[in-house]
Amino acid sequence: MNSNNQPRQYIPVDLHAHTTHSDGSLSVKELMAMVKNNGGKYQALTDHDTVNGISEAREEASKNELTLIPGVEISVTWTGNTLIHIVGLGVDEKNSQLVESLDNMRNQRIERGKKIAQNLARAGIGGAFEGAMSYCKNPESLSRTHFSDWLVANGYAKPGKAFDKFLAPGRVGYVAQKWANLEDAVKWITNSGGIAVIAHPARYKFTRTKLIKLIDEFKSYGGIGIELISSSHSLQDEANIASLCVSKELLASVGSDFHKTESYRRRINPGINKRPPNKIPTVFKHLGIDETIFDVE
Ligand code: AMP
Ligand code: MN
Ligand code: MN
Ligand code: MN
Repeated sequence: MNSNNQPRQYIPVDLHAHTTHSDGSLSVKELMAMVKNNGGKYQALTDHDTVNGISEAREEASKNELTLIPGVEISVTWTGNTLIHIVGLGVDEKNSQLVESLDNMRNQRIERGKKIAQNLARAGIGGAFEGAMSYCKNPESLSRTHFSDWLVANGYAKPGKAFDKFLAPGRVGYVAQKWANLEDAVKWITNSGGIAVIAHPARYKFTRTKLIKLIDEFKSYGGIGIELISSSHSLQDEANIASLCVSKELLASVGSDFHKTESYRRRINPGINKRPPNKIPTVFKHLGIDETIFDVE
């Protein structure tokens, strides 16, 4: 039951989550234990621009009687300078094209971090590079999230406000970065045996026309999925995306996009997600997910 006393169906599938391999705050081991505790069964690991956590995740999933869906969330620069994210699911973490391409992407993160820190220093905030690094377990995955953690911890921004104040496009700490292009990201994923999924589409605040342009281009490269259920989506977002799943023949995906337990907005539980409406086709069969378990228990 939810807070309105409406029955709501949840499924033990989570196709989007982060760990300390990128900007999440739990280790792979801690994440899988939490997923088990939450009643999850199929858990993806989709760290930003890395598959380095996958083999450990497979082991930890197995210890907890979970099935790991090996994944990645690739940063993409689209139409000039718009940042979007493409999730790959069912990828082969040993595929050399995928691994080398992601290694190249992560190599840019330290340099970008230094530039972010220089910009913040000009605005009177010193020590941000070392500060952000102290929140980052895998330095090559240095993220704006780590800068946000440090800025908040040092009183430069209120919890949840460091992006709006310093790190979002147009703010003093923002450094435009050329990430992967859309075609390459989709190809790296599909060439490694995975399926490509547009991550949290509502977060981009695109017009419907622009979102359809993205979908058409994405599909032309072989992308087949879109996140319908995501912790950043409202009910209205879900309705909009469900209609796009039908009209654009996209398969729906579900993902918590878990980074840490206490997000400033709400509590996010990895491992379980709302069930997509029955009439909407999903990515599940492409990932070997046994849907008959959804109706058991
Ligand atoms: P990066 O890949 O270093 O550019 O960092 C992007 C990450 O920052 C995303 O994956 C989110 O986890 C986080 N992020 C982006 N925008 C916001 C925001 N407005 N508030 C909080 N976190 C954000
Ligand atoms: Mn993130
Ligand atoms: Mn994302
Ligand atoms: Mn994510």
